[in-house]
Amino acid sequence: MPYKRLGWKKKILLACLLCILPFMLSSPHSMTAKMLQDSANGAKILILNYHKVDNMNISLSVLPKDFDAQMAYLKENGYHTISPGELYASLTEGTELPDKPVLITFDDGYADNYIYAYPILQKYDFKGTIFVITSFMGTQKNYLTWEQAREMEAHGISIESHTVTHKSLTELSDDQLRAELVNSKKTIEEKLNKQVEFLAYPTGTYNLHIAQIVKEAGYKGAFTIKYGNVDKASNMYALERVPVFHTENTFKSFLERIQYVPIFERLGWIKS
Ligand SMILES: [Zn+2]
Repeated sequence: MPYKRLGWKKKILLACLLCILPFMLSSPHSMTAKMLQDSANGAKILILNYHKVDNMNISLSVLPKDFDAQMAYLKENGYHTISPGELYASLTEGTELPDKPVLITFDDGYADNYIYAYPILQKYDFKGTIFVITSFMGTQKNYLTWEQAREMEAHGISIESHTVTHKSLTELSDDQLRAELVNSKKTIEEKLNKQVEFLAYPTGTYNLHIAQIVKEAGYKGAFTIKYGNVDKASNMYALERVPVFHTENTFKSFLERIQYVPIFERLGWIKS
């Protein structure tokens, strides 16, 4: 039937149909594409990022009792802690991880990690990873000693690099940058007799050029403070983490943070 002979109701219906047609065609298609992409990228991996675990009333310091409650929650809810090496093997070689994998990381290497966090991790039979500033080790008050680091390394805690001096890497020359990366790695390897393969960027700052030099220095991966979960689409030299802070209600904030990440990603969080 020619268009001009259609009644006005049919014309409106036809116009509406033409308007929604692209959505009818594209939505299921893009949803399917997104679902396929999600399954291709594998499971989401939670990486928690702490700094201090101490009885201080500052946002970077989680109270020991709150840290204990968070670890109890992870244990009771079927999370399994992994090492950075296990994360790397899973992302690059597809080796299987336990159900609900979580990597528990600490930046800076404060002595309270040994005094408070380490006994709690042991209580739950959990692994952890501490990124240390090598020039502070055993020289600065409130920082770990090599002796403490050695003991933890022997009991499920991976000691990795947070550079020599904790300078923001974007402000260094290439030579200074290489020295920070190579010397911290070498020092930990000599002191603890282990391979150091992972880095956490001081203050979280990095760019593609820095990531390339990190790779050339012999690191297999590097952690940022970019908020999100890790999966196969993640860049090994720009791994996302979920920071945990001391707040008015630390446990509620913790739950929101570990549960909100997948929601961010469902809304189209784009990895960079
Ligand atoms: Zn730091």
